[in-house]
Amino acid sequence: MKKVVVLTGAGISAESGISTFRDSDGLWEQYRVEDVATHEAWERNPKLVLDFYNARRKDVIKAQPNEAHKQLVRLEEKYDVRIITQNIDNLHERAGSTNVIHLHGDVTKCCSDRNLNKPYPIEGDTLSYGITAPDGGMMRPFIVFFNEPVPMMEPAMELCSQADYFIIVGTSLVVYPAAGLINFVPKSVPCYLVDPKEVRVSRNITVYTEKAGTGVKKVVDELMSL
Ligand code: NAD
Repeated sequence: MKKVVVLTGAGISAESGISTFRDSDGLWEQYRVEDVATHEAWERNPKLVLDFYNARRKDVIKAQPNEAHKQLVRLEEKYDVRIITQNIDNLHERAGSTNVIHLHGDVTKCCSDRNLNKPYPIEGDTLSYGITAPDGGMMRPFIVFFNEPVPMMEPAMELCSQADYFIIVGTSLVVYPAAGLINFVPKSVPCYLVDPKEVRVSRNITVYTEKAGTGVKKVVDELMSL
């Protein structure tokens, strides 16, 4: 089976009602990244960080996968589909995708602040302050904060180097190291990009300047017809 590697960002979940980060109505218009999504923020004011991610988690639980998430599931009928998402929501999994790498974590889970690689489930929608992990650390959201290393980068780079087709959906490609993944895709591999805004990519790529719901369907229709 040929391998389709898909890199997704906040834009694929926009039509599910989850805000992106950098659009004009995006989340960072309302919050400062330094206050809620860095390791220092967690050390300085963990309650604020927990509140921020508790609100994100509530949004995610309420949201439903949209047409774009569902189309990527359809692609599994013919291809070995590997999704690399920058998103912290779980809408790919809830749509039915079976192979998903979360580069930046999963807001529906938590982890000890002494071991960021072992996720635990969260009961309900709220992670309260002061819950002790089995290793004695404090439970925090299972999120890779902005200035922390990204442990899933290695497997993601490996997947990109093995792609037969590569699709990018709904990412401004400004958050590194994730944005650099395209450089690991061999030059001969056909690439597609779906985004309603112009995104700068330094390679030959088929662009669908439209929202994920319609654009991903077009890419999937094309790959299914090959
Ligand atoms: P970004 O906000 O920088 O870029 C979003 C991109 O999506 C933009 O290029 C925008 O034009 C595009 N977009 C907007 N609406 C779209 C639609 N309907 N269909 C397709 N594309 C659309 O987000 P990013 O590049 O993913 O990077 C920022 C960080 O934001 C990531 O690290 C991610 O962890 C985090 N984030 C995640 C979520 C989520 O989990 N759903 C939401 C917001 C931010």
